[in-house]
Amino acid sequence: MEDHDVPGAAGLFEQALCNGLAVIVEARWPGSEVDSKGRVKSAKVLLEVIAAEEARAGRIGPVLALEEPGAAPPVVGECIPYWDESESEPAVHVEIAVLREALRATAPRRHGKLSEKPLEVKHIDSLAKLDTHPALNSLHGEYGELSVAKEQVRDLWRRHQAENYLGMLSEAEIGRRVLAAQDLLPFDPKDRLISLGLQECPICDQESLLVEHLDDFGIGIGAGTCFVCGYYRSEAVVDEAAWQFTWLNRWKYE
Ligand SMILES: [Zn+2]
Repeated sequence: MEDHDVPGAAGLFEQALCNGLAVIVEARWPGSEVDSKGRVKSAKVLLEVIAAEEARAGRIGPVLALEEPGAAPPVVGECIPYWDESESEPAVHVEIAVLREALRATAPRRHGKLSEKPLEVKHIDSLAKLDTHPALNSLHGEYGELSVAKEQVRDLWRRHQAENYLGMLSEAEIGRRVLAAQDLLPFDPKDRLISLGLQECPICDQESLLVEHLDDFGIGIGAGTCFVCGYYRSEAVVDEAAWQFTWLNRWKYE
């Protein structure tokens, strides 16, 4: 089945986008985030809801600036016009056009290849912009995972890039780089011992990931850049991996 060819990044991206949009729609138009059976609508439909509601208020365009959801309209007779009315800053910018394009890019293709239409940085940036919404900042639990999911999407995108790049390298070139990676370590054996060193890269399986930072949980997973395939493993990714590891092995510490 072609469904198996859908990159993991696409699924994660859609899930993160769907979660983010559901929170935003629920905060502003409560009830509109779910269908008649109480299920959360898809990211595509949630974007349509936002576009339609904003169009009803006379706002259309590729980017919609939604205002603070808690800013209730002033009650007539109880406040002085233009004085008591607070100037509400836009809470979030929803880049409708870019997000629609991203969803088209992540949609499964019948005869497409994995790398035919990868997610682009602008798509992920556009998803990240939703995170400024106060309803998302204050939420915990399921929706609070949005920033983790976003970083995972970025990581999958970086893995995808590194895999593509690795495909261009010959065995001889990979071997040369593995040796050359040793030169990145301090020359003095004593300094070498205390340096964070090289770790095995999860993309090219070579001992060539130059570590710049170790996870905050003391597991020893290194963040850094691979000298062979260029994969960059971020601090957020290693902390999340270390947290997962600690959680899965928590019985050992009890
Ligand atoms: Zn690598």
